Amino acid sequence: MQTPSAIMRRIPAIDRLLAAAAAFPELAAVPRELLVGSLRQAAEIVRGEALAGKEVDTTPAAILGIARRLLAHAGQPSLRRVINATGVVLHTNLGRAPLSRRARERVADVMAGYSTLEYDLAGGERGSRYSHVAARIAALTGAEDVIVVNNNAAGVMLVLSALARGREVIVSRGQLVEIGGSFRVPDVMAQSGATLVEVGTTNKTHLHDYERAIGPSTAAILKVHTSNYRIVGFTAQPEDGALATLARQHGLPLIEDLGSGTIRPVEADGWREPAVSERLAAGMDIVTFSGDKLFGGPQAGVIAGKKELVDTLRRHPLLRAIRVDKLTLAAFEGTLLDYLLGEPEHDIPVLSMLQAGERELADKSAALAGLLGDLPGWRAEVVPLVSRAGGGALPAVDLPGWGVRVRPERLSADAAEEKLRLRALPIIVRVKDDCLLFDVRCLAPEDLAEICGALEALAAEAAL
Ligand SMILES: *Cc1c(COP(=O)(O)O)cnc(C)c1O
Repeated sequence: MQTPSAIMRRIPAIDRLLAAAAAFPELAAVPRELLVGSLRQAAEIVRGEALAGKEVDTTPAAILGIARRLLAHAGQPSLRRVINATGVVLHTNLGRAPLSRRARERVADVMAGYSTLEYDLAGGERGSRYSHVAARIAALTGAEDVIVVNNNAAGVMLVLSALARGREVIVSRGQLVEIGGSFRVPDVMAQSGATLVEVGTTNKTHLHDYERAIGPSTAAILKVHTSNYRIVGFTAQPEDGALATLARQHGLPLIEDLGSGTIRPVEADGWREPAVSERLAAGMDIVTFSGDKLFGGPQAGVIAGKKELVDTLRRHPLLRAIRVDKLTLAAFEGTLLDYLLGEPEHDIPVLSMLQAGERELADKSAALAGLLGDLPGWRAEVVPLVSRAGGGALPAVDLPGWGVRVRPERLSADAAEEKLRLRALPIIVRVKDDCLLFDVRCLAPEDLAEICGALEALAAEAAL
């Protein structure tokens, strides 16, 4: 038995693999970078298997064989569209919010050529990239001033760095959230150079807890929306009005990280996600929120609030490092135009998917089941399902819906799931009790035929 390190030493160097590749005429036409890349990747695969204690073939011929299989897909983009049959609307791993038609048109228009990104047409002079969206967000939220950055995490970071570096920020213990593992309020606070002052307890924080914590080094009071969890039962948080008055009395900005802020309040399953305008009207001086959660636009972070505070942020050097690019701004403006001119509940995919009625979902499920009904190798039936908002929005909210449960007759559900996932146009689906579960909530009309074609091809392949 050879040790993994002995095996790894036997893996030929890239030069030797390239020399061996010269024996294959069909590889002669492959661009050198692609060939070298696939050889490296193949060697890496063999190395990984050796490390995992597997028996491996380290001959140049074997590694070339792997490289040739990799090359078959080398021209295929890695970042590409998938069909989301999971029923999770803001699926972070699948790119969160699909963009509206207007947003896509704005991106297509701007990306092909030059644009007014930082050019003021009226004056024929330098302009601001934030101007394209700031006035429109202000109109929709009532904010005095607005800037947009790469994502909400960056927005919170900028606010804390610019307004509280080297000083203290007071946060309720019930609001020290972690979002997706990499955004944790205490860590973001530390990174910004502000000192976290925790007040209250996990379930209850009172106005006097905040009041007692205020001292000469206090820079701000921060509220964090408990986006992805709920504290229920014996709980308390001070009234917004009282907290705003307390902040004002001490000359402190009251900041809220709203996470998934919405333009119009979203209600589901007894849960109510407040609109940004409501939070500003409730006394928040600054509100930050994500562009690609309930807002339904591109990945971005919005900082909206008092002009004087936003001006301070605008002058901060960190802004340059987290500024949004023109494609994001174009998509963002398109989404804003949906809110201002269109029918957002219909035009913005996230809103229309979240608010899809049970009737509509049942009809779509029946249409899919109808398509699948005649296919040999599968048994399909319409079933009630529960979808989720996802993306750390609307925690624990059940979105009642419908879908199609498909029982494979010729292969296991796990094998079918894998094959659907590895297609050129991947279909991402849940597996339960050896059945595939197609939640129709996030499926476009044309996806139904694509799913049908995929299952037809799979069954034919399994029958061979
Ligand atoms: C989602 C969320 C964030 C992070 O927002 P991104 O746009 O994903 O960076 C921060 N805070 C809260 C409360 C959130 O819900």
